[in-house]
Amino acid sequence: MYYTNGNYEAFARPRKPQGVGEKQAWLVGGGLASLAAAAFLVRDAQMDGSRIHILEDSGLPGGACDGLLRPDVGFVIRGGREMENHYECLWDLFRSVPSLEVEDASVLEEFYWLNHDDPNYSKNRATLEQGASADTKNRFELSDEAALELMRLFFTPDEALYDKTIDDVLSEEFYQSNFWLYWQTMFAFEKWHSALEMKLYLQRFLHHIGGLPDLSALKFTRYNQYESLILPLVKFLEDSGVQFEYGVKVTNVLFHFLPGKKVAHQIVLERGGKPMKDCTGAEICMEWLYHLGVPESEIGTLAAQAASTVPCMMPYVTAFFMPRAAGDRPDVVPGGCVNFAFLGQFAETPRDTIFTTEYSVRTAMEAVYTLLGIERGVPEVYASVYDVRCLLNAAHYLLDGRRLTEMKLPLPYKMALHAGLEKLRGTTLDELLVRYELV
Ligand SMILES: Cc1cc2nc3c(=O)[nH]c(=O)nc-3n(C[C@H](O)[C@H](O)[C@H](O)COP(=O)(O)OP(=O)(O)OC[C@H]3O[C@@H](n4cnc5c(N)ncnc54)[C@H](O)[C@@H]3O)c2cc1C
Repeated sequence: MYYTNGNYEAFARPRKPQGVGEKQAWLVGGGLASLAAAAFLVRDAQMDGSRIHILEDSGLPGGACDGLLRPDVGFVIRGGREMENHYECLWDLFRSVPSLEVEDASVLEEFYWLNHDDPNYSKNRATLEQGASADTKNRFELSDEAALELMRLFFTPDEALYDKTIDDVLSEEFYQSNFWLYWQTMFAFEKWHSALEMKLYLQRFLHHIGGLPDLSALKFTRYNQYESLILPLVKFLEDSGVQFEYGVKVTNVLFHFLPGKKVAHQIVLERGGKPMKDCTGAEICMEWLYHLGVPESEIGTLAAQAASTVPCMMPYVTAFFMPRAAGDRPDVVPGGCVNFAFLGQFAETPRDTIFTTEYSVRTAMEAVYTLLGIERGVPEVYASVYDVRCLLNAAHYLLDGRRLTEMKLPLPYKMALHAGLEKLRGTTLDELLVRYELV
């Protein structure tokens, strides 16, 4: 497996790998990662669908992107996904999955047309004090010291951030900025989360900095992701003959450890259902109505009579973001494994960021391409972090339009900045600094 980008490999169709007709694939879990792996096996490895088995503990596919119609209470889903144009692996997948809604279109086309015609943005980014606008004026309001802190984090090597929290590297002054308000409310980061993950997010989504204040950075599916992504993907897989088994919990995978390789040879499983706790959602609804600014005297009645709120428990939902270090997560294909791979949020792959649909699909693609020796590169993580235009554009927005020379810097920094800018005068880089209004 290797990484690639650009059109050349994007449109290349890999040939069938040798021996694929004799292989079987067993995927643990029916979440997006496993569904994606199955689709790459069908499309790129050209494995017969009947040789692919998905073992899912619960009663329906989709994992975190679940969706369940409970006639007594309503339609239940966990969370909604913010998406973007540079989910390279995810869109590579969904270009091949037929839409259930739009005739003769793929899910990608349906999504593209929808976001083209109805782009996302917010007229009121945040509210405070029972519904009053936070009135952020689309500004980041980073002080010079806070901007420097953010810049230092951006350039810190991964190793120096292992097991550090955001609080270890950013100060109270930074938390006062609108940047932190946007960041927290968009990505669910808390101060005790991983500083490394925050840096990776900064780099990964650098090209969207300008769209954070009004949410124009984001794209959305027409409905929830269960209906808009999972259902078409499951239909595509079922039509291809992929075998789904629900109510199956995998409890172990047994290996033969041979010289130089590890071979998975048995999946241990239990059949039966994982039970949900019954509880009322009325208090959750009341809390939410209070924050929206609904008159307090009406809240109780509205929560009881006008809404049906079904609590969903996600006790580990931000566990992804806890401080981590190299070696905490297994590689997608651990050293020596010839027929076994880890998919999804807790497998390790460079440069991409967890808690994303893209990560699930990317690890799936890497696993299939590695184990099957697919003759095509996996699209690399979008390289905006290496694009000087994106860096300068992000700096422009982060400084709310201030020039570099207007920053209040310690004297040695200021002298170095002036000397550097003097050296660049008249060069192409100088032109870029002017274009992005940094000088
Ligand atoms: C609330 C929330 C908000 C999110 N927001 C965004 C967002 O804005 N943008 C974005 O891109 N991504 C977002 N994500 C992330 C993205 O939705 C998930 O990372 C992705 O869907 C995970 O897919 P997965 O297949 O890797 O794992 P999962 O969806 O967790 O699937 C794993 C499946 O395996 C099954 N399983 C587990 N153990 C066993 C076993 N032993 N035997 C059999 N089956 C088993 C489970 O029942 C489950 O169905 C969000 C996630 C959540 C929860």
